[in-house]
Amino acid sequence: MAYDGHDAQEGEGRRADLATHLNAVRHRMAAACAAAGRDAAGITLVAVTKFFPAEDLAHLYALGVADVGESRDQDAAPKLAALADLDPVARRGLRVHFVGQLQTNKAASVARYADVVQSVDRARLVDALAKGARRADRRIDVLIQVDLGDPVGTDLAAPAAEHAARGGVAPEGVAGLAERVSAAQGLTLAGLMAVAPLGADPGAAFKRLHDLHERLLIEHPAATVLSAGMSEDLEAAVAHGATHLRVGTAILGSRPSAR
Ligand SMILES: *Cc1c(COP(=O)(O)O)cnc(C)c1O
Repeated sequence: MAYDGHDAQEGEGRRADLATHLNAVRHRMAAACAAAGRDAAGITLVAVTKFFPAEDLAHLYALGVADVGESRDQDAAPKLAALADLDPVARRGLRVHFVGQLQTNKAASVARYADVVQSVDRARLVDALAKGARRADRRIDVLIQVDLGDPVGTDLAAPAAEHAARGGVAPEGVAGLAERVSAAQGLTLAGLMAVAPLGADPGAAFKRLHDLHERLLIEHPAATVLSAGMSEDLEAAVAHGATHLRVGTAILGSRPSAR
C-alpha cells in the first residue's frame, strides 16, 4: 500500500497513540508484578488486535510487541495476508494467537496461520486442528479453554447465551481433553486459558484457574502457559499466576463503530 503524506502523518499519530497506551499497560503490569512479587519478564503480553487493521499490527510490532491475538478467522486470514504485503518483517516476527470461539470447519484455515490456539474446548476441534496442522506442515501450541462457570447468585436464565458464546470446557473435562491434545500429531499442549465470568470477582475465578493449572502440570509438566486477564482484570490475573495476558481495548481503544 502506498502512503501519501497525509496517510503517513495519520500513521504517525496512530503509532504515537498506541505507544502511549502500550506504556500505560506495561506500567500496570509492572505494578501488578511488584505487588505479587513476580518478575515481569515471566509474563507475555498478547495484544488482541481483533477489529483493528493490519497497519496496527505493523505499528505494534515496531513498538516491540511480539504477540498478537485474533478472534475471527474471517477477519484474521485476510488481515495477516495484508500484513505480509505491508510489512513482511512484522508478519514473520509476530506470533499469532487465536483466542476466539472456533468452529470446526474453520480449523484448517486457522491452522495455516495461528502459532497458538488458545480456545480449544472440545474433542472434535482437537482432531480438526491436528489434521489442519499436519496438512499445513506446521506445529501449533494449544491452550485448553476452561469455562469457569457463572458466579453464584447470577440470573441463570439471562446469561445462558452469554455462557455459550464464551465457550470453554467444564473443569471436569480438562484432563481428558489434555490427553487428546498431547496425543495428537501436530499439536503441542501448552497450558490453559480462561475468561473471567461476567459479574464475578476475577480474583476468585483466576484462583480456581490457577488450581486447575497446578493439577494439569502434574500430568503435563511442559504445559506451563496460563492465559488469563484482559484490559479490565489483568492485575487479578497477574496476582494468580498468569503467564499470558490478552489485552485489547486498553491498547487499541474501543471497537471502531464503522466496522
Ligand atoms: C477480545 C478478547 C480479549 C481482549 O479483551 P479486552 O477487554 O478488549 O482487553 C481477550 N480475550 C478474548 C478471548 C477476547 O475475545
